[in-house]
Amino acid sequence: MDSLFETINKIISSPLWTLALYVAAFCLAVLWLALVLWTYKDAHKRIEDPVIVAVAVLTSLVLPYMGTVVYAILRPAEYLAEAQERELEVRAMEQELQVMRACPSCGELVKPEYVACPNCRRTLRSLCPSCNRVQEPGWRLCPYCGYDPKSLRVPPPVDPVPEFQPVEDHE
Ligand SMILES: [Zn+2]
Ligand SMILES: [Zn+2]
Repeated sequence: MDSLFETINKIISSPLWTLALYVAAFCLAVLWLALVLWTYKDAHKRIEDPVIVAVAVLTSLVLPYMGTVVYAILRPAEYLAEAQERELEVRAMEQELQVMRACPSCGELVKPEYVACPNCRRTLRSLCPSCNRVQEPGWRLCPYCGYDPKSLRVPPPVDPVPEFQPVEDHE
């Protein structure tokens, strides 16, 4: 037994052992600082508030290794860039939905320029039988060519451009 202790004693007091200890301590310190740096870089990408980023970095600095582990558990799951991208996507989708209208017959979303519902074939807007342009619901005659379904006739083409006259209110 004595010889074993002596051997251990010899190893511990040998300069090689001291060197090994220094190397190990140096490696641990490098790892610790690398973890602090990693915490800073990761927190920077995930957290907007600089105060919280500072707290995360300080935690991993003050509590070597453990602080970084705690940060890794508590950190936000998503990168800021990803969150922004998703927000933009949602906004674009909302805008598209606002532009779309619901088909009065089946509820399918249709664009305002559609003349018929692609889902249930319902006519959404008619075309002027004379000039073939899209008519808004509620128009009594085609404002483009003057076709009036009630009189069932196409007016003669508007000949010589009339003098400009102030608009009068009829009706
Ligand atoms: Zn429909
Ligand atoms: Zn027309």
